[in-house]
Amino acid sequence: MGKSRINIAIDGHSSAGKSTMAKSLAKELNYVYIDTGAMYRAATLHAMKERSIVDTSVNEVGLRAGLERMFLSFRYNPKTEQSEIHLNGNNVEKEIRTMEVAQKVSLVARVPEVRTKLVAIQQRMAEGGGVVMDGRDIGTVVLPDASLKIFMTADPETRAYRRLREMQNAGKKVSYDDVLENVLERDRIDSERAVAPLRQSDDAVVVDNSELTVEEQFNFLVSLARTRMADPS
Ligand code: C5P
Repeated sequence: MGKSRINIAIDGHSSAGKSTMAKSLAKELNYVYIDTGAMYRAATLHAMKERSIVDTSVNEVGLRAGLERMFLSFRYNPKTEQSEIHLNGNNVEKEIRTMEVAQKVSLVARVPEVRTKLVAIQQRMAEGGGVVMDGRDIGTVVLPDASLKIFMTADPETRAYRRLREMQNAGKKVSYDDVLENVLERDRIDSERAVAPLRQSDDAVVVDNSELTVEEQFNFLVSLARTRMADPS
């Protein structure tokens, strides 16, 4: 049986558990996991540091000019056994997971020049195959030829509750209502933006995990992936 190193695209709503699944799937298949959300979050942090976004007001001219000074890379951290995002050489993996970044990221991610720059990097990373990439536009824009496309979702309350637990476990003080509002607001901006909106690709397998355990979902995705690896066409 032939086994190719395919690319796997995972898209879906905010906090639908994409990264948990993408990470486990990549580990199981010995593939590389690429978190494109981390790239948009790091671009947002960069804009915040340069003051091109203050509160929710974006200075698009400043933001575009600042892209020339933004270098993103993923580096493997043996301690966490994860590849972590670096902005201009600094590890910002923790700094990008705050509520403040979450509240601004969709405003930065809708700027076309930001997307052009990040999509080009993402496409280069996937050139050789063997990648599991998660985001909002992976199956539609970044890797339209991916052999397997998954669209993950769950009802908003379930997603907000999961994200709340994750943030609380990381020692952050946040309320359920704020997290729910953020999840809904990001979905709205991500779905309504003009360039590369969040949308389900026609050939994506839809997984609503409101009622699924992590294990059930994982087993389902691994079997899907193995089937496609055996016959990628
Ligand atoms: O995946 P995560 O929730 O970390 O993504 C943060 C934000 O980055 C999303 O709400 C969206 O605005 C943006 N994003 C995007 N396209 C992607 C990945 C993330 O616009 N491929």
